[in-house]
Amino acid sequence: MFDQFNRRINYLRISVTDRCNLRCTYCMPEEGIVQIPHSQILTFEEIVEITTIAVQHGFEKVRITGGEPLVRKGIVDLIRMLNAIEGITDLGLTTNGTLLKQFAQPLYDAGLKRINVSLDTLNPQKYKAITRVGVLSDVLDGLAEAKRVGFNPIKLNCVVEKNSNEPDARDVKAFAQANGYFPRFIPKMNLDEGIFGVVEGGEGGNCSTCNRLRLTADGILKPCLFSDIGYNVRELGIAKAIEMAIKNKPACGIVNRTNEFYNIGG
Ligand code: SAM
Ligand code: SF4
Repeated sequence: MFDQFNRRINYLRISVTDRCNLRCTYCMPEEGIVQIPHSQILTFEEIVEITTIAVQHGFEKVRITGGEPLVRKGIVDLIRMLNAIEGITDLGLTTNGTLLKQFAQPLYDAGLKRINVSLDTLNPQKYKAITRVGVLSDVLDGLAEAKRVGFNPIKLNCVVEKNSNEPDARDVKAFAQANGYFPRFIPKMNLDEGIFGVVEGGEGGNCSTCNRLRLTADGILKPCLFSDIGYNVRELGIAKAIEMAIKNKPACGIVNRTNEFYNIGG
């Protein structure tokens, strides 16, 4: 489907949980978050139904995100269910990578072939400071396992203050080059203040070509990362929510005071 600015909307990003095993300083408060009650989180059956109807509306590209998607119980089953939907040409997942050593093989076997792993630094102390609780070697082991089982491409999401010339970003770039990973540099954003940046090496951040809708873990379809607008699939029905989200997708976002990265999925 095309929106009113002639953008073809064909990319659905699905947040499967607002929970996370890290506490990145730019994403979550140290004490954690007020979590969506389990009873409100979309079931796998609901996610599959929403995705199927989205495909009928012309969606082809699906990305699973969170919170941390690998902490959602049964995530491998969900990937298998989504992979069975005819018409999805590109199924991907964004993860912090800390559980990837354990999950890479089962995810690959379930049909996932593309993965984005967040990695802001190669310095273990800095990694700990950024994520508050994370251990860098877990991510590096997870990446090595993802490569071993055959994921392709493996992209690295690196959050930067301004651009990829910063020392940590340069290290990530060299590490990616040496290992056959593809780095993308994401300027640190603030949804609440409308501080917004264009992703270097990726597609995000260019409003004139934005082809995305986002689904929150509790079933709100959001047409724009930087807008409070959202349509509840349970209240409106799936097709109506999709149609309204596309129809009302803004030309450009301004601020989002309703969501944070951990519940809209980045
Ligand atoms: N937990 C997973 C992860 O970290 O990859 C998936 C969800 S996370 C919200 C998705 C992406 O958003 C990550 O690459 C993360 O670095 C990015 N992100 C989170 N907060 C951000 C912020 N304030 N500015 C820019 N990117 C941010
Ligand atoms: Fe968790 Fe990802 Fe947010 Fe970090 S960026 S706190 S890993 S959801």
